[in-house]
Amino acid sequence: MLDVCLLGTGGMMPLPDRWLTSLLIRFNGRMILIDCGEGTQIPLKMTKWGFKTIDAILFTHYHADHIAGLPGLLLTIGNSGREEPLTLMGPPGITKIVEGLTVIAPELPYELKLIELSDLEGSETCISNIVIQSIPVDHSLPCLSYCIELKRLGKFDIKRAKKLNVPVSYWNSLQNGVTITLEDKTVSPEMVLGELRKGIKVCYCTDTRPSEDLVEFIKDSDLFICEGMYGDEDDLYKAVQKKHMMFSEAGLLAKQGKVKELWLTHYSPSLPNPEEYIEAVRTFFTNTLAGRDLLTKTVKYES
Ligand SMILES: [Zn+2]
Ligand SMILES: [Zn+2]
Repeated sequence: MLDVCLLGTGGMMPLPDRWLTSLLIRFNGRMILIDCGEGTQIPLKMTKWGFKTIDAILFTHYHADHIAGLPGLLLTIGNSGREEPLTLMGPPGITKIVEGLTVIAPELPYELKLIELSDLEGSETCISNIVIQSIPVDHSLPCLSYCIELKRLGKFDIKRAKKLNVPVSYWNSLQNGVTITLEDKTVSPEMVLGELRKGIKVCYCTDTRPSEDLVEFIKDSDLFICEGMYGDEDDLYKAVQKKHMMFSEAGLLAKQGKVKELWLTHYSPSLPNPEEYIEAVRTFFTNTLAGRDLLTKTVKYES
């Protein structure tokens, strides 16, 4: 299972009661953060999940509301005692951006590993057993949407394990995907596991116009977290001009992508009460929530 916490839900600027949009994912005690605007440390602290086990920070793009909180967070992670390398990834330009921002966070007690993802085609990376996929989206700067996937291995086949004379003490390792070596042979997980089962898929998509590519990218996700910059249909021209999404467009994407659940986020500061537009979104997609700061869910495997 995967824990998901929507740390903040604001776009453009943090408000007294709304932190900037950011998502925290936890699996087996290890964490991945997506986006880190001004003040993201505050809701992060409020989760009580700690800072030390954040293994990667992913950036959708480099507008300040998605990255300006990085230097402070890097220092806090350093103060938490982390010594293992930390991965930062995002669209092209990450080296220059991180170089600039770390002028005010020098001498970190851990190494920063930078991964520059292509803004032309999708890519796939694996961190802490989580597969991270990205695709370029349509915003005023190079921008990526992310899909976080936890793969699930097949069921352990006791009959096959017994036939291969694998001692019971090794079964657990094999179920966890580890190849084992016995005196007379090597046994790999696929020799004793059934077909891959459906894993968990969470998608995070903000600062973009909707697209056909996104429908395919988010297909069948368990949880789709999507920008809803404006709720009032009269603001559509602003969404088109500034390359953002309407609540209704997020609802339509969720429907077309056949996702299980939709959370909206990245509200315009001019939108004091996102809830008032939710019923309209539900005409497209019923299982929609107006995301709120610190909204948390444990996404479980299908039984
Ligand atoms: Zn933004
Ligand atoms: Zn932006």
